[in-house]
Amino acid sequence: MPKDVKPETIAAQAGGIVDEATGAIVPAIHTATTFIRDPDNQYRRGFGYARPDSPTVRQAEAVLQALEGADACLMFGSGMAAATTAFLALERPAHVVAPLVMYWALKKWLAEDARGLGVEATFVDATSTEAIGAAIRPGKTRLVWIETPANPMWGLSDIAAAAAIAHEAGARLGVDSTVATPVLTRPLALGADIVMHSATKYLNGHSDVLAGALVFARKDDAFERAAGIRANLGAVLAPFEAALLIRGMRTLHLRVRHESASAFTLARRLAQDARIAEVLYPGLQSHVGHEVALRQMQGGFGGMLSVRVKGGEAAAIRAAAKVTIWKRATSLGGVESLLEHRASVEGPGTPCPADLLRLSVGLEDPDDLLRDLDQALR
Ligand code: PLP
Repeated sequence: MPKDVKPETIAAQAGGIVDEATGAIVPAIHTATTFIRDPDNQYRRGFGYARPDSPTVRQAEAVLQALEGADACLMFGSGMAAATTAFLALERPAHVVAPLVMYWALKKWLAEDARGLGVEATFVDATSTEAIGAAIRPGKTRLVWIETPANPMWGLSDIAAAAAIAHEAGARLGVDSTVATPVLTRPLALGADIVMHSATKYLNGHSDVLAGALVFARKDDAFERAAGIRANLGAVLAPFEAALLIRGMRTLHLRVRHESASAFTLARRLAQDARIAEVLYPGLQSHVGHEVALRQMQGGFGGMLSVRVKGGEAAAIRAAAKVTIWKRATSLGGVESLLEHRASVEGPGTPCPADLLRLSVGLEDPDDLLRDLDQALR
């Protein structure tokens, strides 16, 4: 495939792969765990054993690497495996800055488990570049971590500003870009060093693969250490999952654009609904992150929104119980729309308001989705 093609072209053709042995335009699923050595004791074809590296996974990595404009990519068995590896790959002891509002399980790991592993986290309002700057300890902070838009209120962090402030202090910037996807935001082009995805979500897009990715601006020491951790802990993606992920990414642009447009329609309509106290969506002018979203997101504001239901927690849970088209389930980024009472998922101590329902908008007709919400709120 020529180098100057657009991301849609790369995604649709899974990087333009044609299988050399057969001419197949869909990559083979290589299930081998071990690979033959050359007679002179080398592994010239690049593969020795499937825990450090395997061909179908490498194909998935090549596609995402191209979509993010990166130098290197590592796929993992889940988003959490990828994210925790980004922290464990730091030269330790390490200080890191992370958001107060972010994917709850990673925050819990940072708050409860990471310290024992030599990673001390300071949590800040990451929608404020000043707050990030104030928490950085020059010479000690090795990583600034942001998630944008961030679960479950969809606050925006300014990637370019956070990168500048991190680099000034000798730290790297890592971005959880799961919700934005490379379709709407390319963090490396804005100065980030590492991008993380729960590929379980939009990249795969069909709620049938658990996968994660770290994407690197440079194939540097951080990449080498992360690759070593993946190999040693065996936090790998399996070949069948990699093949499904390659297929999922072929339609990434279509799905994300359609879901973003539907989410925007829903956000605008729900903002007029007297039973809703607040709609949280970066596309709305009323959203605190709107200005940054306009600068940083291209072609849409994402398929995720949250609504705060008048009447509090009980009213929100009651509405969730009544949906018939939306699926009452956690996760996001699939072709089917999901809805959940988010505080129930995150548990005690969550910054998530008790009256909040998180909505992942899929590919259904938006009018059907709205009608279902209307009857559920009645
Ligand atoms: N980051 C975000 C924004 C997520 O929503 C999730 C999962 O919900 C993760 C990371 C973790 O990914 P996984 O569930 O694939 O481990």
